Amino acid sequence: MTKLDFSKHPCFNDAARHRYGRIHLPVAPQCNIQCNFCDRRFNCVNESRPGVTTSVLTPHQALQYLQQALQRDPRIAVVGIAGPGDPFANVEATLTTLQLVRQHDPEILLCVASNGLNVAPHAEELARLNVSHVTVTVNATQPEIGRHIYAWVRDGRQVFRGAEAAERLWQKQRETILALKAHDVMVKINTILIPGVNDQHLGDLAQTVRSLGADVLNCVPMYPVENTPLGELPEPTPQQVVEARAQAGQHLPLMHHERN
Ligand code: SF4
Repeated sequence: MTKLDFSKHPCFNDAARHRYGRIHLPVAPQCNIQCNFCDRRFNCVNESRPGVTTSVLTPHQALQYLQQALQRDPRIAVVGIAGPGDPFANVEATLTTLQLVRQHDPEILLCVASNGLNVAPHAEELARLNVSHVTVTVNATQPEIGRHIYAWVRDGRQVFRGAEAAERLWQKQRETILALKAHDVMVKINTILIPGVNDQHLGDLAQTVRSLGADVLNCVPMYPVENTPLGELPEPTPQQVVEARAQAGQHLPLMHHERN
């Protein structure tokens, strides 16, 4: 397997941020959960700036788009799949795209960002494709907290609501982290900080994901999106963000930029 060069990864290396670029390939329109801060007309808020829309590409169109982008800017070193929905609610498109990109370039850094519901069955393939890391957005490890964050979770043919939805999502996220680490894939946890909901939970969450093998955590303040159940909440204050990051940082290295 080709050894990946993380020194070119703008997410993991400050010096690389100004020298190397990354590109997101929008091949994944569907989502298998409903977060209470998400307006589905826009991209996954777990991974993108709120309010941004993206047109969806097929895997072959995505490869062409990448090839054209690389011609214009050869400094692109990282290719990510993060939406506009969830990559693993669109398994075929996601894996085909990763395979096409990997065939085209054995060295480019590949990453994927997901809510973690359906990643575990594909961990082996992600490792085979030499994916550099997977971002898993974990906003709660306790159903009592998670039930305020998720309206529903669809796992196969079953739809869960309320605390059951949060419980199922966390069980699957747990399996995802364990499966990725069993295949030696780096796991980055993304946590959206939601004031009054999970802002006192960051230490506990970080300790739990660390015990499963997660490598690093990124705590992202929620940006309230109008007309969503959590849209009336205020944005976290800078003090709340500092405190939450301090809680999490006791257990796990933190990333200090906003997005994947
Ligand atoms: Fe929206 Fe949540 Fe699905 Fe992302 S994971 S697209 S934020 S519902």
